[in-house]
Amino acid sequence: MNKICIKDNLAAVEATIDIACKKAKRERSSITLIAVSKTKPIEMIQDAYNCGCRDFGENKVQELLDKYEALPKDIRWHMIGHLQRNKVKYIVDKVYMIHSVDSLRLAEEISKEAVKKNISVNILIEVNIANEETKFGVSSSDVKQLIRDISILPNIHVKGLMTVAPFVENSEENRIYFMKLEKLAVDIINENIDNVCMDILSMGMTGDYPVAISEGATYIRVGTGIFGERQYLPKGKEY
Ligand SMILES: *Cc1c(COP(=O)(O)O)cnc(C)c1O
Repeated sequence: MNKICIKDNLAAVEATIDIACKKAKRERSSITLIAVSKTKPIEMIQDAYNCGCRDFGENKVQELLDKYEALPKDIRWHMIGHLQRNKVKYIVDKVYMIHSVDSLRLAEEISKEAVKKNISVNILIEVNIANEETKFGVSSSDVKQLIRDISILPNIHVKGLMTVAPFVENSEENRIYFMKLEKLAVDIINENIDNVCMDILSMGMTGDYPVAISEGATYIRVGTGIFGERQYLPKGKEY
């Protein structure tokens, strides 16, 4: 088996980002690369950190907490996976951003815990932009009302939208969905809702981030492209 060289992988991803930025006439600084480290061991994350990565994405609460404890405190942890309400209290003061808010009940729980801890929490609304049955996320038609409802909650701030596009062979097939998410963000900006901004569009993964960049992504979430394929091991041996 080839050993994964994170430094080389990161250099390749950065080169691809640069090309996509030039094509789209965008600044590299307008895009944050989130290294999605789920299932990967501490040592690999430390490697990526040593190469300059500071933004990491995890999708499980316990795994995020273990890694938070073990790794440098200037890491910005992004919660990108489905979040259960009863687990909000464990991570709300440890994450930089929660990408996966798709219900008022979850937002209310985040707000409640944020008030208790006297912090403010930044969130993105996860949109099921392709209306896939198997996916989490609020439907496009329900996004505005959800954001209006969340906007009046204390200590929680909507910063933008997130989507997980369909799994496709040809990344061009996802362009339409990235365009739709961007358009939705513009619609929401035009609503002028207090306490809501749409600075962040979290879209694009290993298979499609160049297309997402060309359609306005400001956060891209890259796992496999940096850390290699994920292996899912038996419970208790996940990472
Ligand atoms: C796993 C995951 C990613 C990264 O996927 P890759 O295809 O490995 O880049 C991005 N976003 C979310 C929400 C994920 O769960």
